[in-house]
Amino acid sequence: MPAKLLTGKEVAQKMDQDIQKEVQELKAKGINPTLKIVIAGDAPDSLAYANSAKKIAEKNGILCDIEQLPGSTSQDDFVKTLKQRNADKGANGIIVMRPLPKQISEDVVKYVLAPEKDIDCFNPVNAGKVMAGDLTGFPPATPQAVMEMLRFYEIPMQGREAVVIGRSMVVGKPMSMLLLGENATVTVCHSKTKDLPGVCKRADIVVAAIGKAKMITTDYIKPGATVMDVGINVEGDKLFGDVDTEPAKEVAGAITPVPGGVGTVTTRVLLKHVVKAAKLQNP
Ligand code: NDP
Repeated sequence: MPAKLLTGKEVAQKMDQDIQKEVQELKAKGINPTLKIVIAGDAPDSLAYANSAKKIAEKNGILCDIEQLPGSTSQDDFVKTLKQRNADKGANGIIVMRPLPKQISEDVVKYVLAPEKDIDCFNPVNAGKVMAGDLTGFPPATPQAVMEMLRFYEIPMQGREAVVIGRSMVVGKPMSMLLLGENATVTVCHSKTKDLPGVCKRADIVVAAIGKAKMITTDYIKPGATVMDVGINVEGDKLFGDVDTEPAKEVAGAITPVPGGVGTVTTRVLLKHVVKAAKLQNP
């Protein structure tokens, strides 16, 4: 039997409903949840991402303001602006678009962004909260989107073997912590892992966050396993995940498509975090 396709659309729709309900409740109390996206420069990818987030935010009743600074902005000026936004009561959540221009150090800026407004886990304080299982924090959008999908599709996690391929701070590491928080038994793999197919084949849940198109073939998948494909690999005008989806469908029990899978849910996670931030800031 081919795998169940875990599409992002239904998850996003359900999240939209929940977000809209919470936004209404906040507005009834005079709180207008607001997202601020700060961009330095005019990288087309960053602008496209910000505009798309703004559209989805506004559809859900969340105000979204894109603040575009010149690409030549100095680090000092960028830090000054960010401190002003931290202090601005009208901004509940702030996203700093990356990559930043080369004269602005991410390692400096990430400590400036106020943790309580850092809805995409840029500040190490939020990374620490993910480690600690502290629910007042904001995990990064992508691994949180994987969790939203696993919950929506009622994939059991407790006691299951989960293998995460990739150990970046944006996906792999926080992903492993979130799965651990659900009592999965988690293995984290990377480029130096020995016998990657053998390790992956033990898993009930495989999360591929590698950045290599179609690398995960049927050799890596236990029959009936759930395969969460985080990869976004652009080849010409086509988009591929890290999983070779078509053959994998014949082995896996459930699988996310690319496009139309995890990526569809990430913006909703950010909006859910704006609502959460607004609530925490207005106890
Ligand atoms: P990184 O390049 O930061 O990390 C990739 C990870 O994969 C590293 O830990 C690396 O290991 C590991 N890796 C690379 N090659 C191999 C290999 N041959 N075998 C095993 N492990 C390997 O990428 P990101 O974490 O930022 O992103 C991962 C993927 O997810 C990308 O395709 C990216 O585009 C996508 N992505 C998708 C998002 C979404 O919303 N769906 C958002 C963010 C990212 P090592 O540490 O040893 O180098």
